[in-house]
Amino acid sequence: MKLNRRQFVGATAGAAAATLSAPHVYAASHGGKPKVVVVGGGAGGATVARYLAKDAGDALDITLIEPTRVYYTCFFSNLYIGGFRTIESLAHDYGTIASMGVNVVHDYVVGVDRDAKSVTTASGDTLMYDRLVLSPGIDFVDGAVPGWDVTAQNKMPHAYKAGSQSQLLKAQIEAMPEGGTFAMVAPPNPFRCPPGPYERVSMVAHLLSDINPTAKILIADPKENFSKQGLFEEGWNKHYAGMITRIGPDFGGNNVEVNPDEMTLTIDGEVNNVDVCNVIPAMKAGVICERAGLNEGNWAPVSGHTMQSRIDENVHVLGDACAQGDMPKSGFSANSQAKVAAMAVRGALTDSRVFPAKFSNTCWSLIDTDDGVKVGASYEATDEKIAKTDGFISQTGEDAALRKATFEESVGWYEGISSDIFG
Ligand SMILES: Cc1cc2nc3c(=O)[nH]c(=O)nc-3n(C[C@H](O)[C@H](O)[C@H](O)COP(=O)(O)OP(=O)(O)OC[C@H]3O[C@@H](n4cnc5c(N)ncnc54)[C@H](O)[C@@H]3O)c2cc1C
Repeated sequence: MKLNRRQFVGATAGAAAATLSAPHVYAASHGGKPKVVVVGGGAGGATVARYLAKDAGDALDITLIEPTRVYYTCFFSNLYIGGFRTIESLAHDYGTIASMGVNVVHDYVVGVDRDAKSVTTASGDTLMYDRLVLSPGIDFVDGAVPGWDVTAQNKMPHAYKAGSQSQLLKAQIEAMPEGGTFAMVAPPNPFRCPPGPYERVSMVAHLLSDINPTAKILIADPKENFSKQGLFEEGWNKHYAGMITRIGPDFGGNNVEVNPDEMTLTIDGEVNNVDVCNVIPAMKAGVICERAGLNEGNWAPVSGHTMQSRIDENVHVLGDACAQGDMPKSGFSANSQAKVAAMAVRGALTDSRVFPAKFSNTCWSLIDTDDGVKVGASYEATDEKIAKTDGFISQTGEDAALRKATFEESVGWYEGISSDIFG
């Protein structure tokens, strides 16, 4: 089954189905129309800005702050590495959102004054808000992988924010010596896109099978188990037998150190010379959440009913940055949460109705050509968290036609979600 844009939006817009009644004049704290500032123009933030403009554009003054002019989706960036997509096909701009009346500001937010209800940008501007929406994605935990910090990301890329990092990683793989070693340091839970590292391994193996078939892949993994493990391992045995070795925590996969100058990965005291080292460190909410004083630990806790921060009801946090409960950190989740947040912001600042929050997510992964698998679930908000209500997962041993159909479904999803986010 191919998902087209209309089906994707229809399938996921339960929460966004609210119809607007005539907006009343909200007593904006700074005069004029109520002001909404959205920080981060990725899967979560761009969706909020677009849905607010679409459904309440006349009643609200909406600003989206995002440093980059072109956003490259992490989703399908592994397929770029595998040779199934071009980098250009992952690129999206903000022209449509701007034309819908959103004030798109290309800048970086460096501070939030929650008492004054204002944000400050790197170029020195201050913007006032009635509601603030933060969807800044992830940053990396300092010191998570001994020997690595962001100054080493050119020698040992993470490629966990897409664009130049994805291009760099692919170029390094293509330049590997014959029979060389690609290494990955996998992250601990929780992290962005649970199947992402393992889909990446599949795509690297696919590329190497083509251009460097005697090359090896070595994964150091601090986790006992990982998402869709049975499906990935079945696929690796089928398509890439003998190429991939994963070292879990029982054999020291949680005790690693890297040396970017020497290009070594040390696992439990044993030094491995590697040709490419993809370091994916432990993650935390984008730093602005910490600066705004909205984190507990590494993430910003929210109420699933509205995606409001549990620390400040005038701030909504969504996507990878929030601690919400059962949903995985994915683009699909961020987009789904964004519609709930947009509805809640509209409800608070205009007269529109607010419906019970419902969410959904599916994570597709490609293992080899036309060999697609998926895992997904539906969720609802409880007072405690966003709670899973039911789920599904591909099965091992599925036939080729079903796997091909699953892959084609993911291609339809990509087109659908991209236009739902960026217009
Ligand atoms: C390899 C890989 C594969 C993936 N595959 C899938 C997949 O198949 N399906 C899926 O659903 N998800 C997938 N994901 C996960 C998905 O990309 C993320 O979960 C999603 O992008 C999260 O959305 P977000 O809005 O929270 O963050 P992002 O999309 O990262 O957006 C955050 C934005 O905020 C901006 N920003 C950060 N700080 C500031 C600041 N202080 N001021 C202004 N702007 C700021 C950033 O520039 C960025 O554009 C994948 C991820 C990876 C790494």
